[in-house]
Amino acid sequence: MKTPYLITKEEVLKFYKPVNPLSHKGLQGHAVIIAGSYGKIGAAVLASKSCIKSGCGLVTTFIPKCGYQILQISIPEVMVFTDDNTNFLTNIHLPLIPQAIGIGPGIGKELLTQKALFEFLKINKIPLVLDADALNILSENKSWLQLLSEKTILTPHPKELERLIGKWDSEVQKFQNAIAFSERYQVIIIMKGAPTFIINQTAVYQNTTGNAALATAGSGDALTGIITSLLAQGYEPLQAAQLGVFIHGLTADIALPQTGYQSFIASDIIENLGKAFL
Ligand code: AMP
Ligand code: MG
Repeated sequence: MKTPYLITKEEVLKFYKPVNPLSHKGLQGHAVIIAGSYGKIGAAVLASKSCIKSGCGLVTTFIPKCGYQILQISIPEVMVFTDDNTNFLTNIHLPLIPQAIGIGPGIGKELLTQKALFEFLKINKIPLVLDADALNILSENKSWLQLLSEKTILTPHPKELERLIGKWDSEVQKFQNAIAFSERYQVIIIMKGAPTFIINQTAVYQNTTGNAALATAGSGDALTGIITSLLAQGYEPLQAAQLGVFIHGLTADIALPQTGYQSFIASDIIENLGKAFL
């Protein structure tokens, strides 16, 4: 296995971009979050809120109709655009061309949602974060992986990774398979876990922040929002992946003395983004 590079504060500060004092929201990037289905609109809320709190100027969230009021009331800062269908996504049509798109949290695997993802991937050229059920849908339709553009980041947790790259017999084999997958499809893989590793075609990176408080519902949805936000601000995919996992983990390290492991929830990630960026 290749020796991982450590993702430390010193490393991320080499490419971290402070906000320009003369900036305005139009220069900070517009991100789109495509997420949610009936009973899982919370995933869209967590991803969208993390996204707008990670520095991009504008966020539009695309959800099935049932989430409209929930989103507008939970996050007034975010614009909402809905699918024609009530409970799950069937046709991804965006009212704008954003700088980055995050897709997957809580979308489910309805056949029409699968088809919508396929149609979307066929035409999409925008930097992309693929998470959760978007990954599961791709695992069940592996030929669609050919459609991914090179500025794509995949964020599987261990089960999602196994569905994507197949079972492994050893840690060494897991990394070999993940690297081979990344080379074959020219994508970045964030192997979420304790710790999280980032794989691209040439190297492996190991995150140094985070703790077991992050083992909680919605934690990954927040990560999707953070990384999508960074992509929208013009970070290269590998930088967005590194800074994203670093900041995400840091929120939990900052919060731990107040929340302990048991009481930390995904909203605490969002709550502590400000301190983490500072
Ligand atoms: P998900 O399973 O999609 O909600 O993602 C969980 C997130 O929490 C990922 O970013 C993981 O790396 C992180 N996480 C989960 N458990 C741990 C742990 N024990 N230590 C550090 N990070 C964790
Ligand atoms: Mg997840």
